[in-house]
Parts: sequence; C-alpha cells; structure tokens
Amino acid sequence: MLTDRPVICDYAKFRAKKSEELSVLLAQTPSVFLIVCTKCFHRMRDEDAGCPEVRNALAGCATTIAGCLEVDFLCNREKTSVLLATHPCGSSTAGVFSCGVGVQVVADLLPDTCVLALADSIPHGGNATTDVAYHGVSLRPWQCAACGQCRLQDTAGICPVVECAKSLVNGPCGGAKNGMCEVHESLPCAWERIYARLSAQGRQFSPPVQVHNCASFSPEKKASLSAEVRQKRREGFPGGLYPPDEKERAGSLSLARFPDPQVAVVFLSQHAGAPARPLVKKGDRVKAGQEIAETAAAISAAVHAPIPGVVAEISERFHPSLLTPAPAVIIEHDGSGASVSLPPMTGWRSLDPATLRQRVRQAGIVGLGGAMFPSDVKLNPPRPVDTLIINGCECEPILSADNLTMVECADDLLDGAEMLRHILGVTRCLIAVEENKPRACAVLTERLAGRDDISVVPVKTKYPQGAERMLVLRLLGRRIPEGKLPCDAGAVVFNVSTAVAVCRAVRDGLPLIERALTVAGALVKNPANLIVKIGTPFADLLRAHGADEESRLLMGGPMMGVAQPSWSGAVIKGTTGLCAVPRPAVIPSEERDCIKCGRCVDACPMDLVPSRYAFHGKRQEWAQMQRHGVLSCIECGCCEYICSAKIALVSLIRKAKIHARHLTAKP
Ligand code: SF4
Ligand code: SF4
Ligand code: SF4
Repeated sequence: MLTDRPVICDYAKFRAKKSEELSVLLAQTPSVFLIVCTKCFHRMRDEDAGCPEVRNALAGCATTIAGCLEVDFLCNREKTSVLLATHPCGSSTAGVFSCGVGVQVVADLLPDTCVLALADSIPHGGNATTDVAYHGVSLRPWQCAACGQCRLQDTAGICPVVECAKSLVNGPCGGAKNGMCEVHESLPCAWERIYARLSAQGRQFSPPVQVHNCASFSPEKKASLSAEVRQKRREGFPGGLYPPDEKERAGSLSLARFPDPQVAVVFLSQHAGAPARPLVKKGDRVKAGQEIAETAAAISAAVHAPIPGVVAEISERFHPSLLTPAPAVIIEHDGSGASVSLPPMTGWRSLDPATLRQRVRQAGIVGLGGAMFPSDVKLNPPRPVDTLIINGCECEPILSADNLTMVECADDLLDGAEMLRHILGVTRCLIAVEENKPRACAVLTERLAGRDDISVVPVKTKYPQGAERMLVLRLLGRRIPEGKLPCDAGAVVFNVSTAVAVCRAVRDGLPLIERALTVAGALVKNPANLIVKIGTPFADLLRAHGADEESRLLMGGPMMGVAQPSWSGAVIKGTTGLCAVPRPAVIPSEERDCIKCGRCVDACPMDLVPSRYAFHGKRQEWAQMQRHGVLSCIECGCCEYICSAKIALVSLIRKAKIHARHLTAKP
C-alpha cells in the first residue's frame, strides 16, 4: 500500500502526488532512479536512511528503486548537472520529487531519460497560466506556473502551460511555421519540441484527456448549439459577460444607518463638471444640510454639510475617484443634531418643471449610479425625449444597495420617478430590474398594480446591462449614435437611488448629504448595505465591518470599481460600494502578448475590437487606437476580465483616451 500524501512543511513549494497517481505513474516502469530536492521539502531529508518517506510512498509498488540522489536546490542547473555527472542515473526512468522547475532541469539535463514528476507544485491560487511561481534559484523564474497538476512526464519535461504561448495542454494549435510559434515568432513551438523529445525517447504523447467528441454530434446538434451561443451573445445587446454575481452575502441584508463620522471629508468635486466654490471658511460653524459650496458653472453641483460641526480646514485630501489630492472641506462633528433643509414642495404636481429642476440643482443631486453627472442638467435635455428609464439593474457583482433601495424605499422611488417624468414632460416611464432581483421586481410590481403610466421591465441578467447604451438598446431597441447621449435616442436614464434622492429633495426639502452603499467582498467579515453620510472616511466603514487590511480595496464593484491605493479615501456622492477582495496571489512579472483568441471581441458590448488596443496600446500608438474607435469604449472591463493573456486593456484604453483628448485640445 502506498502511504498518504506527506504533510507540507517549511519551505515546501511542492507536494507528493496522491498515492493513486503515484501507483499509475510507477507502474509504467520496472525500476526508477529517485532524484529528490531536499531544499524546499525538508521532510525528504534523512542522511542515514535516504528518502524514507519516498521509499514508504513506493512500498506498495513492484517498481524497484535503482538509486537515490538528494540535491539541495535541484533547480540550480549548474550544481545539479555536476551531481548527475558524478551520480549516473541507474535506470531509463528518473522519478523526481521537486517543484516543476526541478523536474524540468533534470529533464533538460537527461534528454534521453523518461522523467516522471512525482510531485505537484503548490498552486498560488488564481489562474495558473498567469500566476507564475518563483522557485529556488532558477535562472528562469517563469518555468513553473505552479498549476498544481504537474504532468511533465507526459510532455518530456517541457511545460506547455508556460512554454506554449497559448498554454495549450492537449497538443499544438497547428499555427507553427517552420517550427516557430505563431505568436512568438522568434521562439520554437513548445509542442514541436515536446514531440521531438518524446520521439527521441521512443515515446508518444498520449495522456488521457477529456475533450468533447465533436465528430459524434449530428450536424443539426452542432447548428443548434452554434445558434444558441450566437443568440446568447446577441441577447439584449451584443457581447457582455455572465460573471459570478456574488451578491448572496450582502443581498439579503436590510439597509442599516451607519453612525455619523466624527470628521467628515467633503470634496468640492464629487460630480462631473466644475468643482463647487466654497461658501465657508475655517472656523465656521455649520448645520447638517447647510450648503457649504455652490455651483461654479452650468455643469457643476452644490455641496452640503453632511454633519453639524465646525469647519476645521479646507485642504487637499486623497480623492477616491480622481486618485490625486483634491480640495475638501473638513468638518468636525460638534455632537449636536443641528440641521437645516429646504422648504418642502408638497404640492409639486402643480409646479412648473423649471422650478423643480432648480430644486434638484439646489439639493446638489447628481447621478448616484457612479457617473455623478448633475441631475438638473440631465433633466433639461437639448432635444425632446419620450421615455424616462429608471435603472435598477445594478449589474456589478457584489453590490446590492440599489436592490435594497428598490425593496425598502419603493414608495419614494416611485414618487421620484413621477417627479422626474413630470419635469421631463414624458408619459412613458420604464423601471428596468435585472432578473436576479426578484424581490425588487415583486415589490415594485405590486405597488404599481392597476397603473399603466409606469412599468417594471425585468431584464435578463447580463453584464453590463446597467450601462445606459445597453439599457436603451434592450428596452427601446434604439442605438445611441457614437459619441452621443441617451437623449439622442429619445430617452433619459436615472439610477434608482437618484430617483429616491429627487423625491426627498422635492417632497421633504432634503439636500443630498447621504447615500446607500454596500460594504462587502470576500475579505469583509460583516458585509452590509448602509445609509452613509457623504464624507465618511473609508477607514471608519471598513474597520466597523471587519475588512482585512491586506485586501485589495475597490470603490465600486469588481468590474468597474476604482482600485484604491489605501484606505485614506472618503465617501463621495458616486460611491456605490466598497469591495475588499483578495489581491492577486502573484503579480506576473510581465504581461503576456495577445494570443489572438478573440474572446475580447466576443465580449465587447460596444462591438469594438479590443485586441487592436492590446496591439497598439503596447506600442503606444494612441492615434491608431483612436482610429479603431477607442473613444466609444464605455470602460466596462469585459475585455480585460475575459482576456486570455490577462492584458490590462482598460488602462491602455484610458491612456489612449487621455492622449486623444490632449490632441483634440491642441490649437
Ligand atoms: S501557440 Fe505557439 S507554442 Fe503553442 S502550439 Fe501554437 S505555435 Fe506552438
Ligand atoms: S472596456 Fe471598452 S473595449 Fe473593453 S469590452 Fe468594454 S467597451 Fe469594449
Ligand atoms: S482576449 Fe483579446 S487581447 Fe486578450 S489575448 Fe485574446 S484576442 Fe488578445
């Protein structure tokens, strides 16, 4: 009987394969010469008995041990080559206990010997094709991806996961020309090398692999499968993705009020357009709801004190959206409950649209879905529109505050929708809710029973359904022309939380000083949906909910969220959530080249060809990117999420846009 797997201990970067796997491997050979890396796997070291655990593991096999060589740092090619020269391998088969790098070094040094990998490198988590591990003193750190399923014995000691540009594990792609890789034209095709070495050893590549036998499909079945895939890709809008929504943890929790912060950091710029102009100075006493900065241009938004207290200073603080220091009013809470509000407009139905629009402006309301465009400007479209769309999709994974807002603030939401419709002068109002929010759909549908002026439209769950262009296309079948706005397709879109804020500003006179957001993610112990005062420091929220300080923090969701370099930001009007997620286990030392798989093209909802951005972006050919429509990109992140080569496409796209604007701005 073979023993159980040895326990991983200090420095171990690989572990023995399971007993059953070892029996299958060793049954292939009457004798094996063991080569053991003792540096990383201390339990293998035993000067007297010589690899007792290895011998135990092989005790139940008929295979005899022809000899054993222990090497400190098997991955040290120079040292290993000297040792192998003085300790010749006494069998046509070598069994290597080491990480993948050690196995490859031995296979390289003994090209005529069949080398068995008796251990698996320990995976570092994430995508094994990109999370390259670093082992021992190897001079080629990319030799092992620590995929956790070492099968170098099948591939003559050449790893296809790291050596093949496409990480193909079942054979070549067929694109090699004259033995050279079709992606990296200066490198030999890994699979041709594998076949050549196997053939020199009198072996063939024949591992059992699980593949669909397409030949057994009828032509009809193939056609229906293709049609299904095509239909899904075109469903509602082209492309898009179905990422795991991970909304279970926070999705069922009610909205709870987070306590006022002791110190609020209130940025003057938390909207699209000109930063607001301060109306207060250091030492001024303010009440909650008091206007502390006024609009500074047509496209701008007023800012109000979220808490009562004293203005401690007006100075620059790290801005979580701009990612640079930006001016903010710092207010220290005075412990009082002093507040002011605007006069309620209870008879709003009899007021003219301009008066209501002015109220929206006075209240500092901006798009709360993340875009932060001033709502009063949006409510004055330059051309007539016929439809108001209320966006309840919340298609970003993890976030669920909008969902809870629809469930728990349904009446305010519907009143807000009516006010927006009244201001815009449209009769049709559609509330779009993704199908993964059945409670919200049910609550709103029940409230609207018997009414035909506002309807709830359940839409299929697909990312990025919440993007304005996708919504207008899905609901109205209208395409927004390139470079244009929803109003150019006859529609105006508002997020559900914005509609609630409009209702409270008009009906109750409340300026925008708080918002609903989600604090969640795998590294948050107590996820929550919260009503939070604008200006609340991120650190207060994250500590209160048990976020791991080592996590990767995103303001927003995992697809479009802004990665935060620290916890020093504070809630702004566009903060839809804070997600604390694991950092990539290993940062790849260098990005891979595009392998022309086309997955990004399939996923792009704007029908762009992101692989062109990978090509031109790496060469800093910004003008070429502009020619290929980069300005139409909505930065949804689908291409980057799906990219086989894990290319940071969105950051290349953003750079190209900055260069394009710079070029346009030149006289
Ligand atoms: S991608 Fe390159 S290395 Fe991989 S099989 Fe194709 S030609 Fe060979
Ligand atoms: S980020 Fe831009 S290029 Fe990439 S999928 Fe989204 S819209 Fe397309
Ligand atoms: S997803 Fe696009 S950019 Fe990424 S490797 Fe495939 S074709 Fe290239």
